[in-house]
Amino acid sequence: MDSEQQNRFDVIVIGAGINGAGIAREAALRGLKVLLIDKDDLGSGTTATSSRLIHGGLRYLEHYEFSLVRESLRERERLLSAAPHLVKPLPLTLPIYEGHSRGPFMIRLGMIAYDVLSYDKSLPRHRMFTRSQALEAEPGLEPEGLRAAARYYDAQVDFPERLVVENVIDAVGNGAVVRTHTAVDGFIIEAGVVRGVHLVDMLTGERDSAYATVTVNVAGPWVDDVVAGFGVSSAWKRLIGGTKGSHIVVEPFPGAPEDALYIEARQDGRPYFIIPWNGLYMIGTTDIRFEGDEDRVVASEEEIAYLLKETNLAIPQADLSREDVLYTFSGLRPLPYQAEGAEGAISRKHIVKDHAPQIEGLLSVIGGKLTTYRSLAEEAVDDVYKKLGRKAPKSKTRTQSLPGAESNYDAFVEHFLGNRPSWLSEPSASWLLGIYGTRARQIVAMAADDASLRETLVEGHPAIAAVIPFAFEQEFARTLADVLLRRTMLALGEDAGLGVAEAAARVASRTQGWDDARADAELHTFRGEIALQLPKGLAQAA
Ligand SMILES: Cc1cc2nc3c(=O)[nH]c(=O)nc-3n(C[C@H](O)[C@H](O)[C@H](O)COP(=O)(O)OP(=O)(O)OC[C@H]3O[C@@H](n4cnc5c(N)ncnc54)[C@H](O)[C@@H]3O)c2cc1C
Repeated sequence: MDSEQQNRFDVIVIGAGINGAGIAREAALRGLKVLLIDKDDLGSGTTATSSRLIHGGLRYLEHYEFSLVRESLRERERLLSAAPHLVKPLPLTLPIYEGHSRGPFMIRLGMIAYDVLSYDKSLPRHRMFTRSQALEAEPGLEPEGLRAAARYYDAQVDFPERLVVENVIDAVGNGAVVRTHTAVDGFIIEAGVVRGVHLVDMLTGERDSAYATVTVNVAGPWVDDVVAGFGVSSAWKRLIGGTKGSHIVVEPFPGAPEDALYIEARQDGRPYFIIPWNGLYMIGTTDIRFEGDEDRVVASEEEIAYLLKETNLAIPQADLSREDVLYTFSGLRPLPYQAEGAEGAISRKHIVKDHAPQIEGLLSVIGGKLTTYRSLAEEAVDDVYKKLGRKAPKSKTRTQSLPGAESNYDAFVEHFLGNRPSWLSEPSASWLLGIYGTRARQIVAMAADDASLRETLVEGHPAIAAVIPFAFEQEFARTLADVLLRRTMLALGEDAGLGVAEAAARVASRTQGWDDARADAELHTFRGEIALQLPKGLAQAA
């Protein structure tokens, strides 16, 4: 087979965020030959900077986006059952104060609409709280001016990065090819038809090409760069108008809510969240129009100060200051371009754009939430089939679980915890389940063959050494940063992974044959990557 044939696919997917990964899985499960490419790592773009909520979008009701809310609520339900190890129910409290733009009556109406639109849900319906019930449920809330509150449910995915990884595992299990740290830097265009892409490996510098009948550009905030930069700009109108959103991460603090809070900010009336997450709290987000380098999106000191001030106003005991910020996340919402108007009012609906007749063989995905990635993927793959001129087989992803949640997940958990080997502690077993679901079994099998992989990486953390080679050998990691930030999730702890990085590099050296220079370079790159998140530990070290 010549290399062109070897590199020939039905569909090339550019971008392995949640949407690209979802499209790759959907297409592979429906029988297409797929190539999935990312210039960085799986889930390293916007997907890693979201609020990590699988939500209907209560707020979108105000903009009458009923179909988006319904779609999101249906997908929320599907995700709760397809990935129970990753997606969990999340109770939220919405306090209502004097002077808020919406009083208890309006909030109640919204809550009823939200319940009606999720009539087939497994989560509890909303409840309205009186002022005293609200203070009983969330004693940390500022009591002055509090009128009432609403309690409702959505869902949370602590690690959307893992959702991406599992979609890719399923895609590859069904024949897809994935290439990370590989950028598309040009299209192969013949007579106005995109026939393929030029690729460069960002780690080795090697170049090659891949060919497909259809290419799907799912590059999130980079969608315009992919097209405009690569020779098809004459047919181009700007698609994405990203708004920047930042979160701060802090340790549990005095008065911290038991459940998530969804609050109207005092300074500008914008809604934001205080969310218990991964043993810590995530507070955000901001929403600011952004024109700049999509590769270097960093929370500004103003955004950090805004979020701290709001939290202290909402929960006076919190008394948070800049020193309490462990790290931040900042990303760009890949929203449809609108030159004017309020940021919060820009539609969160996605669009699958066909560039024909200007350019054939190319689709671009604009917008899309974490929550609706699966339905977006279904729609995009229907469009791919249309372009291929083939009848689309039925989607399987509406009911099929992700690889970490084989059937009867609860029974698996009970069995796994009850029958764990003597060398695996209960905290380590539980930690493995929370990250890998049923795939935890494979990690245990790896460590069963090699006693050195049974040790915990560092004292006081349940992660065992086997997760490091597992990430490289079974989950497409290529760098230490991939492993810490987007496979083991160790870099999402309170110290942003700084305390475990060297131990992880030592295990990688032993199992992947790295020499000292490679280990040092990997550590350096990891620290460079997390520097964008302004981790406290790095600031002190600097
Ligand atoms: C602050 C914030 C909060 C949010 N909160 C939520 C929430 O709570 N719930 C929710 O449902 N949604 C939320 N969202 C929206 C959601 O996170 C995004 O819409 C979603 O993650 C977009 O995924 P994506 O795959 O389209 O893009 P991305 O995750 O950005 O992926 C695009 C990928 O394309 C790759 N790429 C770019 N250029 C190239 C190239 N030339 N070659 C190869 N690869 C390339 C990038 O490396 C990247 O990995 C939030 C977004 C933000 C910013």
